[in-house]
Amino acid sequence: MRHLLSTEDLSLSDAIRILDTAEEMAAVGEREVKKLPTLRGRTVVNLFFEDSTRTRISFEAAAKRLSADVINFAAKGSSVSKGESLKDTAQTLSAMGADAVVIRHWASGAPHRLAATDWIDAAVINAGDGTHEHPTQALLDAFTMRRHWSKLAGIPSAGAGLLGMRVAIAGDVLHSRVARSNVWLLRTLGAEVTLVAPPTLLPIGVDKWPCRVSYDLDETLARGVDAMMMLRVQGERMNASFFPTTREYSRRWGFDDTRLRTLDTLGLKDTIIMHPGPMNRGLEISAAAADSPRSTVLAQVRNGVSIRMAVLYLLLSGDSRGPAGTSKASPTTVTKESH
Ligand code: ASP
Repeated sequence: MRHLLSTEDLSLSDAIRILDTAEEMAAVGEREVKKLPTLRGRTVVNLFFEDSTRTRISFEAAAKRLSADVINFAAKGSSVSKGESLKDTAQTLSAMGADAVVIRHWASGAPHRLAATDWIDAAVINAGDGTHEHPTQALLDAFTMRRHWSKLAGIPSAGAGLLGMRVAIAGDVLHSRVARSNVWLLRTLGAEVTLVAPPTLLPIGVDKWPCRVSYDLDETLARGVDAMMMLRVQGERMNASFFPTTREYSRRWGFDDTRLRTLDTLGLKDTIIMHPGPMNRGLEISAAAADSPRSTVLAQVRNGVSIRMAVLYLLLSGDSRGPAGTSKASPTTVTKESH
């Protein structure tokens, strides 16, 4: 089996291998010819049961840069909307010769189900399942943080983790697969994580997660933060009222202009502001914060392509010499079974 389903079971060496391979992929992106022949003749299917802009386009760009054939399959407009099951869809894709299936699904656990059955013999990559996990988002976030953290330390990124980096993740943790995947991966990489949210937007059992939990964003900033990650308020997953008003939410838990100035007052001159997108400007993040020089929002999007190239490469390529013919990375070592 060779899948990327979650970050919870990703070992430190596997995580570092993906990040290092992504560095090599980023270097390829800076060449005049940005394409590698590595996955020529392989087919990657983007199977999206839920809306996406960044993730789908990013996987498509990544697969194309590795010369794979890409089939985009959106549930809307397909037979899925006529009631075709995940099983039938998977078997159809299998018959079409898919080597990798990148799946986004509203049901938590759908990618695991696909990987655990014999419906399809392809690498399964979780591109976001319900409120559960979004491993490639966490990897691109970690990649972005690692570049920043190693630059501050004056060391090369390659091989490094995030030891001692203070990361705060604030907002709608309850509905966020990004928060979950980040907590697991950041713990593995050695960062100190604090989740900040109103009590109503924290999941049951969060006290057992490997992180600090706070209800107070200002208190968290005052303790010192190197990366401030804001989460989108996920209105589409809310079936009740989780906070009094949007005004109250942004005043207490949004990264607004006042908090942007607070970073300077606190002497946190190197703190970066992150957001996975799509942003609700004016709610969880102000326009000034999103567009400030501290913001890594666009770098995260750019890094996403390198991370997805690395994951596709490691899962699909049989070439253990690395993408540029230099790395010692072994494509088999990224799987769950390998540790
Ligand atoms: N794009 C991310 C996700 O799919 C974050 C979000 O939607 O808020 O989970």
